[in-house]
Amino acid sequence: LMNLTRKLIEIRSMLLSIDQNDALKLPSIVVIGSQSSGKSSVLEAVVGHEFLPKGNNMVTRRPIELTLVHTPTPPGEKPSEWGEFPALGLGKIKDFSDIQRTLTDLNLAVPASEAVSNDPIDLRIYSPYVPDLTLIDLPGYVQIASMDQPDSLREKISSLCEKYIREPNIILAVCAADVDLANSPALRASRKVDPLGLRTIGVVTKMDLIPPEQGAVILTGNRYPLHLGYVGVVAKTVGKRRDESTGAVVQRQENEYFRAHRDVFGASGSLMIGTGTLRKRLMEVLESSMASSLHGITNAVQLELEEATYQFKVQYNDRRITAESYVAETMDALKLRFKEATAQFRKPIIREKLKAMLDDKVMDVLEQLYWLDKRAPELGELASDSRVFVEDVEAYWKHKLDAASSLLTKSGIGRDSTLLVADGLRALIDSIVSAEPFNYHPQAAERLVQFSHMILRDRIGVASDQVENCIKPYKYKNEIEVDPREWEVGRARAIDLFEKEVGMCEAKLKEIRKKVGGSRRLGGLVNYVKSLEEKEQERKAGRLAASSTEGDEGSRDAEEVTPQSYRYPPAQILDARHAMLYTDRLAILKLRVAALKSRRCRAGSENDVFCPEAFLNVVADKLAWTSTMFINIELLDQFFYQFPREIDSRLLYDLDRREIVEFARENPVVRKHLDLQERKDKLEEVMKQLTSLSTLRSDPQPAPRRN
Ligand code: GDP
Repeated sequence: LMNLTRKLIEIRSMLLSIDQNDALKLPSIVVIGSQSSGKSSVLEAVVGHEFLPKGNNMVTRRPIELTLVHTPTPPGEKPSEWGEFPALGLGKIKDFSDIQRTLTDLNLAVPASEAVSNDPIDLRIYSPYVPDLTLIDLPGYVQIASMDQPDSLREKISSLCEKYIREPNIILAVCAADVDLANSPALRASRKVDPLGLRTIGVVTKMDLIPPEQGAVILTGNRYPLHLGYVGVVAKTVGKRRDESTGAVVQRQENEYFRAHRDVFGASGSLMIGTGTLRKRLMEVLESSMASSLHGITNAVQLELEEATYQFKVQYNDRRITAESYVAETMDALKLRFKEATAQFRKPIIREKLKAMLDDKVMDVLEQLYWLDKRAPELGELASDSRVFVEDVEAYWKHKLDAASSLLTKSGIGRDSTLLVADGLRALIDSIVSAEPFNYHPQAAERLVQFSHMILRDRIGVASDQVENCIKPYKYKNEIEVDPREWEVGRARAIDLFEKEVGMCEAKLKEIRKKVGGSRRLGGLVNYVKSLEEKEQERKAGRLAASSTEGDEGSRDAEEVTPQSYRYPPAQILDARHAMLYTDRLAILKLRVAALKSRRCRAGSENDVFCPEAFLNVVADKLAWTSTMFINIELLDQFFYQFPREIDSRLLYDLDRREIVEFARENPVVRKHLDLQERKDKLEEVMKQLTSLSTLRSDPQPAPRRN
């Protein structure tokens, strides 16, 4: 039978780790009593050591799940005793004052605002002197609310105790002999849930403080009958020593007291007295309670197991997973996804992106150097006039083209093109980490981002320097050779770009026309804005004149123009100004398209002065080719080589078992799967053990000593 309790205690902790379902609970002994009733002293007497937190101010703030494991001393070895907090991983604690300190710390860690916590402390004590028992120590009932123990605390403790004294647990109600049992909060609480006293044991402490006859009357239990009876103890912790012959802890004071009053307590022969009796009683009661729970718990576990097995089949088709396999699959998928992404970074695609960036730059250069130039129309005329020879063209336009070319090639292309590609890589990593499954793994995602940034930081400088170096020849216009095919391609692309730009400007103008209400109204607006501008210019000129020829009144006539005096709303004035800009731009674009299509431009690159757009397009293309080549070598190849290796060496192999499980459980789908699988496994294990127990149970067993 000894074996049975022990096994069931093991099963009980396994069940507790499965879930807190009441149907799956094996009984434990729950110790309740008011503060100072002697609760701690009783528990320590049972264990044979002082190990509970001491102090007069609420030292027990969390339930303590105390599991006592009887460990016989092997022959020829010294008896050894130790404690263990499985949740803390501190290992064997041999010094019981260390256990006491740890318990004190754990209790004090509960914030004062909370006062008590429902989260139990798991403590196991292994000793040849303890029986196999599970005891739960709860905070003592508060009798009087004091300054630092508010009323709400009393309720908190009561509800915590209520939760624990539910079936099938056994209630150990600790009452001090010198306090009327009618006032014992422990008995009162127990009567609420166990009115017939079927699963309550009374412990009457401080027997030495009342006359023995009175004590004996209490122990008969006639006033408040309990089926499991009352045990009287003197549990004061002073004067305690171990009896070397029996190994049991002797309460000297207790022995002396009961021996001295043998006449009173021994007379009826049926009174239960002393800590030794209490231990035996607890063992018996727990054993028989566990034994009678065996059938019910077996059925309950069977049911739960069937359900879990069914769910595992239905939901996962019996597919088993491990945290390790999930991590490995995730990493493989990540690498695959990454490899697929390299396609987006193949040379033609990069080249096209860089070219688009350079086309924009060309536009900027043209706008800056040509379009604002007052002589720009002249360039168009020159292009269409086939009689002009290149040699005859003024140095002005030659110089312009040199300047434009160098403005383009010296605009920081190395850096800009490298950053453009690096941005693409960053966006790739961002899209990977924000998608499944990395959205579930914020820390891993963060690390992936860090790795990628680290590699990029390392490479960007080198790559942009390299590109800058290799485009150096293009920085001198004379060094740029353009063959007829290149010229033709560049010219066609320039026309294409300009025509697109024309389309865009026209679309914008249409939009504005629609917004202000038609072309007539827009025309009116534009004329008005033009007149405003003229007036403004006249006024400025007048001021200038006035300041130079003092006293001239005539110029003051010019009417002041302020926003308030506009004939149209300011938003429409702004629209008109935009419309004017687009119109100007359109005019230039159309002129230039005509020039690019002219015979002279078609003739070839010797006419580049007249067709800067075609020339710059060819240069931009050469820049894009060269940049792509070196970015590919210095940035992309390196990145695609290093990143998967960083994942392996810094993300994957860095994880220990605990971190792997944590990682896997971050994914809710995997967590659910693992939970169900673990639940099923544990239930199977419990079931196996329960089955082996029932065969054990069919052996004849000794009858309980008292019932
Ligand atoms: P708890 O608050 O219920 O845990 O009570 P304690 O075990 O800390 O005991 C409260 C006080 O009562 C302590 O000073 C103990 O020494 C004392 N005490 C406990 N048991 C007995 C007993 O059987 N006889 C006497 N005289 N004092 C006791």
